[in-house]
Amino acid sequence: MTLLDGKLLSENIKSELSAEVDLIRARGGKIPHLAAVLVGESPASQVYVQSKIRSCEQVGFKSSLIQREADISEAELLEIVRGLNEDPDVDGFIVQLPLPKHIDEERITLAIDHRKDVDGFHPINFGRMAQGLPAFLPATPYGIMEMLRRYNIETAGKHCVVVGRSNIVGTPISILLSRKGYPGDCTVTLTHSRTRDLPAEVRRADIVVAAIGIPEFVKGDWIKEGAVVIDVGINRIADATKKTGTRLVGDVEFSTVAPHCSHITPVPGGVGLMTVAALMMNTLKACNRTIYP
Ligand code: NAD
Repeated sequence: MTLLDGKLLSENIKSELSAEVDLIRARGGKIPHLAAVLVGESPASQVYVQSKIRSCEQVGFKSSLIQREADISEAELLEIVRGLNEDPDVDGFIVQLPLPKHIDEERITLAIDHRKDVDGFHPINFGRMAQGLPAFLPATPYGIMEMLRRYNIETAGKHCVVVGRSNIVGTPISILLSRKGYPGDCTVTLTHSRTRDLPAEVRRADIVVAAIGIPEFVKGDWIKEGAVVIDVGINRIADATKKTGTRLVGDVEFSTVAPHCSHITPVPGGVGLMTVAALMMNTLKACNRTIYP
């Protein structure tokens, strides 16, 4: 069984990005600039945004953090988005989700200029992705694709079962893996909370992508021998043996699943780090106008 090491891969990607920044600097070009908008005090969101900002620093990108209290109005947030859309120095930006209940996330996502939408959540990018046109790919699916590519995992003709149909993970990764090319050319089954006999569906999979949001939901006896398992879940559970009293687990029960796999991602140290690396890759593309010349 091989661990798909998101830490190692994301470090490699960051070194490559850092080398790109050196080249840009040497020719006097524009340094990529990522801005992040963080609303409220959610500890998880703060950790995610900090890790994105820290990654920018590591690779030599410019970064800006715009922090607002949870009681910011939707109109004020839309004004911040408008300002970032119009700021010529900002190449790409993200508004960290989830947002407080009184703010319509869809309205905010739609207000982001799709040419700066490095999270790949705007329907223009989603639609272009679905049609196989150049697009900012959503960061988590992009990170998974990069992981499959860099580990040379065979995908053509494989049966892939995706568990979870969210707009940011399950649905887009099911589209990307069914597209023509590598990684892709899979036969994909997209499963969800209304799927009948989920274990039977997962047992048919050569590649499993689990993005459910329920700790250790996928069990070892659901896994075909030799399957590749991509665990997207990030769940904090109680653990009295830890100093903090908690630990992170995925949506897959690692101890029972790993013995059946040819490859599996750990949590932490798997897909989460690839997501941040993918965001950085999108930011470089935004700066270089690779997607939208
Ligand atoms: P979501 O809540 O938007 O979607 C969950 C999906 O799981 C839904 O489509 C639902 O139909 C499905 N589901 C729920 N219960 C189910 C059941 N009993 N059987 C089958 N399907 C079921 O979640 P999301 O935003 O896609 O996130 C999923 C997980 O991935 C979470 O743990 C989240 O923290 C994590 N996540 C990680 C990253 C990363 O960078 N690693 C990024 C995004 C999300």
